[in-house]
Amino acid sequence: MPELPEVEVVRRGLERWVAHRTVADAEVLHPRAVRRHVAGPDDFAHRLKGHRVGTPSRRGKYLWLPLEDTGQAVLAHLGMSGQLLVQPHEAPAEKHLRIRVRFADALGTELRFVDQRTFGGLSLHETTPEGLPDVIAHIARDPLDPLFDDEAFHQALRRKRTTVKRALLDQSLISGVGNIYADEALWRARLHYERPTATLTRPRTTELLGHVRDVMNAALAVGGTSFDSLYVNVNGESGYFDRSLDAYGREGLPCRRCGTPVRRRPWMNRSSYFCPKCQRPPRVTA
Ligand SMILES: [Zn+2]
Repeated sequence: MPELPEVEVVRRGLERWVAHRTVADAEVLHPRAVRRHVAGPDDFAHRLKGHRVGTPSRRGKYLWLPLEDTGQAVLAHLGMSGQLLVQPHEAPAEKHLRIRVRFADALGTELRFVDQRTFGGLSLHETTPEGLPDVIAHIARDPLDPLFDDEAFHQALRRKRTTVKRALLDQSLISGVGNIYADEALWRARLHYERPTATLTRPRTTELLGHVRDVMNAALAVGGTSFDSLYVNVNGESGYFDRSLDAYGREGLPCRRCGTPVRRRPWMNRSSYFCPKCQRPPRVTA
């Protein structure tokens, strides 16, 4: 599953290669890829035709292409294996090509949605006055959003009876932080994942948010991190990069700070990686 930095890399690629181009036609090769569009594949294709794509936008892991002057946007669900590729017309169709969008210009490239497992897809939605597809209007801003409110986030943490990693993955509090970057940020902040958020002081919250932003920006700088080798960014370059990770996926390897072997614990159907020495479990109070 791509995380925020991967999605941002895709967004930047789309901004460069697809923004401000007018759709000549869209071809749905597999109806499952537009199953979220209730009116069906023909309606989906018809609604894109003739419209200009605005600036591709993102909130958290959600990515969409606004269609200018329609009050609508195409939301991309990358799922586990979805890819948005910009390819020359003459490039052979990918084995798992699901949707093809051609443009009314002479640039010679088209947008392709390719998905091996077909968990992902594209769907069309009305946009809110803020410009968000209506189905994601409840998603909180992400930590790289200049309008993210650190103080409101801290107050929400103080009020909630939850633990810090759950809070980082709660899309109604902060969006775009997935399992990998949560573990990385917690390792950097020396916080155990089960730490109750009500115990976090304002400086601790500020420090944690700083680490969340640092790990994401570091991943962005190298083109995103992903553990799914199927993940390819918008111009077909692999976003696979894992060497900079300090905690995630490092079970049994020495902590890069203190040398203690990193541990892995099952956590909400996933795993949490942490250093048992640097990230002490919270004291249990009766
Ligand atoms: Zn350590």
